[in-house]
Amino acid sequence: MVKHWSVPVTEALKADGLRIAELATSSTPGFTGDKKLAQELLTERGKALSVLQEKLYANGRSGDRRSVLLVLQGMDTAGKGGIVRHVIGSVDPQGVDHAAFGVPTEEERRHHYLWRIRKALPRGGQLGVFDRSHYEDVLVVRVHELVPRAEWEPRYDEINQFEREMTREGITLVKVAMFVSLDEQKKRLRQRLERQDKYWKFNPSDIDERAYWPAYLEAYQAMVDRTSTADAPWYVLPADHKWYARLAVTELLIDALEKLKLDWPPANFDVAEELRRLDQS
Ligand code: AMP
Ligand code: MG
Repeated sequence: MVKHWSVPVTEALKADGLRIAELATSSTPGFTGDKKLAQELLTERGKALSVLQEKLYANGRSGDRRSVLLVLQGMDTAGKGGIVRHVIGSVDPQGVDHAAFGVPTEEERRHHYLWRIRKALPRGGQLGVFDRSHYEDVLVVRVHELVPRAEWEPRYDEINQFEREMTREGITLVKVAMFVSLDEQKKRLRQRLERQDKYWKFNPSDIDERAYWPAYLEAYQAMVDRTSTADAPWYVLPADHKWYARLAVTELLIDALEKLKLDWPPANFDVAEELRRLDQS
């Protein structure tokens, strides 16, 4: 058992049977400590994550095709950017493959919705991060009926199939759906309007989107119910406490990397011989 966790994070955040509309967004499932401890642990566990990621990268350089892909979903202000900065920020950037998905460009719209996703999949050895993903195509698209139901409805099965292929090709998916309360979102949006250094994160449409909150919760529920699979389960993350969300995602990534049973790649040269040559050089 990981220190200061009463159950493994993968159990604590499991989506099975969970009613997202009833989620206590300020809860800290499985974690027995407080904010101060969580912040200390984030540093300590960030170092553990960093070593594991370096092993993944080293193996990738030696031809291992496996990779890990963190998929972050969540409404505006849920803290996706904070995860990228504070969790992914603790590892070596050369092994990170980050992609953010916004409103599709004109070119992207001419293609199948998975086209831009396929192009961004992590290569062997990489820790991929998706800030939003193919799931927008059953979230914002469903909520605003950007395409008719007959078009988005089959996407759940299609996404499951797509992710099965990814898994087969060596990508370990870590799918995290982050939730703050409507009140917490209001606070965070207010901050974006009160601080000059946060204006860049604000989009006036974020306020309009608040009216669609119940529709989003419904769409998120359908997403989790229909695309949580044995190989690629969803984790539902209460995110009012940033310190908890960041620590929890760190633990989820550590868990995924540990399951790869990575070791340092062996030398593909004769170490003793090279030492002898070095001495003589
Ligand atoms: P942000 O993450 O704040 O930069 O915002 C990106 C915006 O792009 C969000 O409002 C998303 O809902 C929107 N978005 C992402 N993917 C799609 C998509 N496939 N179709 C329509 N809007 C999307
Ligand atoms: Mg935004």
